[in-house]
Parts: sequence; C-alpha cells; structure tokens
Amino acid sequence: MSDTRSKELYERAKVHIPGGVNSPVRAFRAVNRTPRFMESAKGDRIIDADGNEYIDYVCSWGPGILGHAHPQVIQKVMESCKNGLTFGAPTEKEVILAELISELIPSMEVSRLVSSGTEAVMSAIRAARGFTGRDKIIKFRGCYHGHSDSLLVKAGSGALTTSVPDSAGVPKDDTKNTLVAEYNDKDSVEKLFKENKNEIAAVIVEPVAANMGLVLPEEGFLEFLREITKDHDSLLIFDEVITGFRLSLGGAQQYYNIKPDITTLGKIVGGGMPIGAYGGRREIMQMISPDGPVYQAGTLSGNPVATTAGIETLNILKDDPQIYERLENKTKKLANAARQAGNGHVCVNQIGSLMSVFFTDQKVRDFESAVTSNTEQYADYFGYLLDRGIYIAPSQFETMFISDAHTEEDIEKTCKLAGEALCNLD
Ligand code: PLP
Repeated sequence: MSDTRSKELYERAKVHIPGGVNSPVRAFRAVNRTPRFMESAKGDRIIDADGNEYIDYVCSWGPGILGHAHPQVIQKVMESCKNGLTFGAPTEKEVILAELISELIPSMEVSRLVSSGTEAVMSAIRAARGFTGRDKIIKFRGCYHGHSDSLLVKAGSGALTTSVPDSAGVPKDDTKNTLVAEYNDKDSVEKLFKENKNEIAAVIVEPVAANMGLVLPEEGFLEFLREITKDHDSLLIFDEVITGFRLSLGGAQQYYNIKPDITTLGKIVGGGMPIGAYGGRREIMQMISPDGPVYQAGTLSGNPVATTAGIETLNILKDDPQIYERLENKTKKLANAARQAGNGHVCVNQIGSLMSVFFTDQKVRDFESAVTSNTEQYADYFGYLLDRGIYIAPSQFETMFISDAHTEEDIEKTCKLAGEALCNLD
C-alpha cells in the first residue's frame, strides 16, 4: 500500500500548518505513521490521496452516523448552497432544527446553535455560571470538552494523546475555578462539594466518557450526579457532543433516563457540517443575550447550509428507529471478535455504536485504568489494520465509531483482521 502522495502532502503541510495538521491527533504521532491525506469518502469507505481505500471507523470523529455522503443529505445541502451560504440573519431552518432538537431531547426546551462542540460547552458553562451566580465547576479527569481555556484541565482526547492535558498558554487564573473529580468515583465528587459549599455552578460530564478511550458509567453514577447537583442547587451539564443522537435518538440522557439541566451537542447535530448546540430549561436559557445578561454570539451560528445537513440527518434518524439496533448489533460483533482474539490481554468496552480496545488486562472503568493500556501495542494494532485497509482512530484515547453504512461484509472483514492483530499478544 503506497503512501507516497500522503508523505509529499505531509511535508508540504508542515511548512505552513503547525505539525502539518489542523487538529493534533490527525498527525498520527501516537502511532508513528505518516498521516493519510484523504480525498473522498462514500458510505463506509474513505479514500486517500494515493488511491488507497479504507473501511472507516473514525467517521470524522462521530458525525458520520449515516456513513459518508448520504445521498439525501448531500442533495439537500447542494440545494441549500444555491440559495446562499450565509446570511447572518435568522432563517426558518434554525427554527426547524431547534424544534427537532427539543422534540428528540426534551430537556433541551430552548437551545442556541453555535459552530462547534467547543463553543457549545464554553457557552453552556457561561450560562450555568450566569444562572447560579457561582464560578466553580467540576469536570472529570480524562473527559474532554473542547479546547476552551477553562476546560483544558486534565483533559482527554488529543490533549491526552499529545501529553498536554493541561495546555501551555492557559493562564492559571482561567482554570482556578475548574475542579477535577474522578470518573465513576462518587467520593471524589462528594469531597469537592463539601470543600466548596455553595460555590459550584455545575458539574459537567460526558455521560459516557469517550475521550480516554471508551469508559462506561457504572450503575448509579449518573443518578448520583443528578442527585448531588440538585441537592446543592448546582446544575448538571451532560456533554453529549459524542453521545447525542448516537446512543439513542434522545442521546445518553434517554438511554439512561436522566434529565440534565443543560446539554451540549456537536458532531451528529451538524450532519457533517460545523454545528454545535447548547440548551436546557427555559429559565436557564432566558439568561442568554438578548433576553438576559449572559453574552454569546456567532457570525456563522445557525448558517443555512449547516442547519440543512443537521435537519436532514436528524430526520433520517427519526424516520428509522431500527437504526440503533442495527448499529448495536454490528458493534457487538466487532467487540466480541476483539474480546475473543485478545483472550484476556485486552479490555474491550462497548456501548451502542461506540467501542474501544484497551491493551491492558485491567477492567477499564476510569482514567487510571485507561492509562494502563499499552499504547505501543495500540500503535502496532493500528498499523496492522491500516496496512490492510481498516482505518481506526490513531490514538488509544479515542473511540471507534460504527455507522449505518458499515456493511455486514466489511464488519466480518474487520473482525477477521482485528482478530489476527490481537491473537498474537502476550
Ligand atoms: N465535547 C466532547 C465530548 C467532544 O468529544 C468534543 C470533541 O471531540 C468536544 C466537546 C469539542 O467539539 P469540537 O471538536 O467540535 O469543538
């Protein structure tokens, strides 16, 4: 499999782009390979600049739940483009998307569109602070909530992969109100509430943590977060940028039947275009400008092309409720194959269409156990699959995304190759 053209492009990219990429994990540093420069994608396949075709389990890091270039989405987006790319004025499409969001995720009674998950979370935190009149927030080690200053504290995803979970360039003053607890550890949360009485505006959590690899909430953990925040007049923020419309049509909150105060969305809600959203109860969202004193704005917020992609994607999901069962069945097949081949040397976490293989004999249930994974073995696993046309996340601390476009045949092929890669571990 040739990577000549990707290599050339990477060398050129490094001249004018930091690290040659516009988001760090794309540089393949953690897996010691040349990043693949991609040219096109359709269904479950993605094709690189050398013409190599891969079965894609990155799915653009989550938006691609329908697979690439779904004909209905593409057609509507093209029609929308012809009517103008951006107006900087309200459109009916924004109203339709807000209505759809609130229909599918009823806790998001009122929501505001932004252009990325980072913006959605940053704005949600500001809303929570404005509403409660408190400054402190609790986040969990290994959870990632985008790259805004106050959240780059013990962060997962690319920050963890590239060893900068606490980024340089973030003033200490900007993170002094960010308290860190351990995922799945109720005591660590209780302790922070005790030490910071009447000071905590919100607890923000990925209800299913998917940025230190995939780590599932243990029974009662999310319920506990709901209760403790209520008891202390703090808000519970579910960061559903990954889980929204993926775990179920109503996200993780529907899956686990827990109602957060504020929810943040990204990825699927934009159907492959840049959208984020944050929303919650009317009384909280009334704090947002122009109704209230919490300022938040955006030149391209709710732009018509992106909202079109979001609306079409959500409507396709809504009209096909069986999709979540299909996704889960395929993902279970992959997880079982990896478990069997790994024979006790790997821990495979899976829920819905999300999955991670950790190279550890420990049960991965929090940050501490996630980082026991042997990242060199992960790099070998990644390389073995890449060379055989399977594209998974180039980092142990990301998750694998399965789409409705993944065919049974491609799942079988992946099971076989993953099995080969895993069966020789000792
Ligand atoms: N929140 C979570 C849970 C995420 O996984 C991400 C990105 O992966 C973000 C927030 C930030 O979203 P974006 O990359 O669109 O800014």
